Amino acid sequence: MTDIDATENETPETRLAAVRERIAIAAREAARVPDEVVLVAVSKTFGEEAIRPLLNAGQRIFGENRVQEAAKKWPSLREQYSGVELHLIGPLQTNKVEEALDLFDVFHTLDRPKLAEALVKARDKGRKMPRLFVQVNTGEEPQKAGLAPGDVDAFITRCRTEWSLEVEGLMCIPPLGEEPALHFALLEKMARRNSLPNLSMGMSGDFETAVKLGATHVRVGGALFGSRV
Ligand SMILES: *Cc1c(COP(=O)(O)O)cnc(C)c1O
Repeated sequence: MTDIDATENETPETRLAAVRERIAIAAREAARVPDEVVLVAVSKTFGEEAIRPLLNAGQRIFGENRVQEAAKKWPSLREQYSGVELHLIGPLQTNKVEEALDLFDVFHTLDRPKLAEALVKARDKGRKMPRLFVQVNTGEEPQKAGLAPGDVDAFITRCRTEWSLEVEGLMCIPPLGEEPALHFALLEKMARRNSLPNLSMGMSGDFETAVKLGATHVRVGGALFGSRV
């Protein structure tokens, strides 16, 4: 890993600065304010020693896709660094809701009534609710989590009326090999018609496109940490 860093003359700090700059350029090109775009640094598969340089460089918002993995890394990092905000970006089983609530400030993957009901149950027991994004399976891929686009409006309505869950935005992961812009534009349209202010979309390969199409949260792993093994 250090070999790759040396040959590319990159450090976590320079990668972070480069990604921030690319976000800023894309935002300005779309006549948006760069500060409106939140960079979620996706640290899944990377250990504390890889994460620490980004924390030292000032990054505080991180994403993890597995509850178990986050539970191993983040409690100790949170003790060492103040102001950390952790985002869950992977699918969540209902039996892990309590543990996820211990760890994460924001869930990007609310994707079914059972999970909404599990959240409500936890709230009834006094748990504070996380900030919530609803995941949409914009490509309608059978193996992928997320609501079908046709079910989104009704689900958001149920969140508001039946469960009193405040949803702040939508999230998607476009299918591999398809033009991501089409999926980002679809997500933006669904968010707008449901009066949801935030859009979690864009990863290392397409975050500039996402920013141009309105992303408020980009989830970037590889471009910050180097490639995952
Ligand atoms: C891994 C992951 C990312 C980051 O992907 P990169 O291509 O490494 O930037 C973003 N979102 C989700 C949901 C992920 O699982």
